[in-house]
Amino acid sequence: MDTYVYFFEGRLYINLTNKCCNDCTFCLRNNMDGIEGNNLWLKKEGSKEEIVELIKKNLNFTDAVFCGYGESTYRVDDMVYLAQFLHSVGKKVRLDTNGLGSLINGYDIVPKLKGNIDYVSVSLNEADADGYDKVSRSVFGKEAFGAMLDFTRECIKAGIKAKMTVVDVIPKEDIEKCRAICENLGAEFRVRELIK
Ligand code: SF4
Repeated sequence: MDTYVYFFEGRLYINLTNKCCNDCTFCLRNNMDGIEGNNLWLKKEGSKEEIVELIKKNLNFTDAVFCGYGESTYRVDDMVYLAQFLHSVGKKVRLDTNGLGSLINGYDIVPKLKGNIDYVSVSLNEADADGYDKVSRSVFGKEAFGAMLDFTRECIKAGIKAKMTVVDVIPKEDIEKCRAICENLGAEFRVRELIK
């Protein structure tokens, strides 16, 4: 049975897709099948209606997170539908993303997120386009870094709280440059430990 929703540290996580435009060197998918015994590889993506039914089975949480084994913004319309459902039952909604949803969809997706996503956590990964390309290995190549920053900037303008993350696999001086980028944008900054 595919895992469309799972609980982790008291939050409900929604695993919408296995599609991703990046191939990050640190991606969990390279050496694990999932989290806490939940296999996150999907044989088939769940429909938005199926996922609503699963969420309704246990509403004992305050925060829901779009984050699975792929980039949720490939399914931006289904994600917004689910976010509206989650808001209707009083939940907060976070999106964990590589920030490339507008490139993926070919238009600025932030107006769709406005009012539906409460906060985003964006993978900054590195301090410039070359470094980002090495770590993230995006199909969008060097265009990806600027697009990810634009996405974050637009989210903040739209009133969506933003955090940006790096994984502690990059040099210390790059971590400091990343911190400065976040301060500039008005995003929170977090250094994540590599999950092994
Ligand atoms: S963006 Fe996320 S899902 Fe995609 S390869 Fe990187 S870590 Fe993995």
